[in-house]
Amino acid sequence: MEPVFVFNQVRYHYNNDRAAALNGMDFEIPLGQKTAIVGPNGAGKSTLIFHMNGLYACTSGEVWFKGEPVSKANRSGLVRHVGVVFQDPDDQIISMTVRDDIAFGPAQLGLSAAEAFRRADESMELLHISHLAERNPHELSFGQKKQVAIAGVLAMDPDVVILDEPMAFLDPAGQKRVQDIMNLLMDRGKTVIVATHHMQLVAEWADHVIVVKEGLCLGSLTPRELFCERPYLLKEANLDLPPVLQLFSGLWGEERAEPMPVTMEEARAVLSRLLTNKEDTL
Ligand code: ADP
Repeated sequence: MEPVFVFNQVRYHYNNDRAAALNGMDFEIPLGQKTAIVGPNGAGKSTLIFHMNGLYACTSGEVWFKGEPVSKANRSGLVRHVGVVFQDPDDQIISMTVRDDIAFGPAQLGLSAAEAFRRADESMELLHISHLAERNPHELSFGQKKQVAIAGVLAMDPDVVILDEPMAFLDPAGQKRVQDIMNLLMDRGKTVIVATHHMQLVAEWADHVIVVKEGLCLGSLTPRELFCERPYLLKEANLDLPPVLQLFSGLWGEERAEPMPVTMEEARAVLSRLLTNKEDTL
């Protein structure tokens, strides 16, 4: 499958006296798929993201974007193609109204004010937040600010959208809303990448997972491969199995031909069969 990003032995030092934040990262992120980057705090996820939007240049190694090596000359242009939604939406608020805030990014790309506002209006409509247009973004709830931040990125029309811990500090309704938006971005042809600790999100949503720890990639695989075949990678990265797998992994007999459920829907189907007595043991 064609990769959108290739990391080839990427090292990055914030400070030469300290250990490298990225220590020879090697992986590919597939184009047009849903990829989750998982790892404990300090693993290097944010540093990776800053290499993907061109903010940082690697100390050594290579980053490739859509078949082209990222160089000094083209690095700053990545911002047109790769939008990042940071964990804390306050980091992205710059204007006094939501509409101005969302139009700021496209205006920075050199579009006319009319086109920037047209894109802002379209993004707000798509995310169902048009009623917030004239509000001060600082006065919104955390979940609303997050949606404004996503609308700001969407208005720049990047090919790739990266969300850093998209579910952090959101209530269940807010989490559902953000997951719906992530799917909407996919429907609009974007490649969506999330950095997260939220393992059920990885199980439910991701096509591909990159596991990182201490600046290294421990594995690049599908959620099912990670949770069912190589769960020791999670332990190595101080992460937990998602709740569905925590429940089933101790119960699932090795002789069973059927694959262990990974998503809530798969788990529901297994339990429903058991409860309607079509089978009476796992
Ligand atoms: P994660 O996003 O997985 O929590 P980070 O990319 O933020 O990890 O951090 C990776 C490593 O780089 C950590 O050891 C962290 O302390 C270090 N680091 C992150 N940002 C800075 C910075 N601005 N200056 C110095 N070291 C940093």
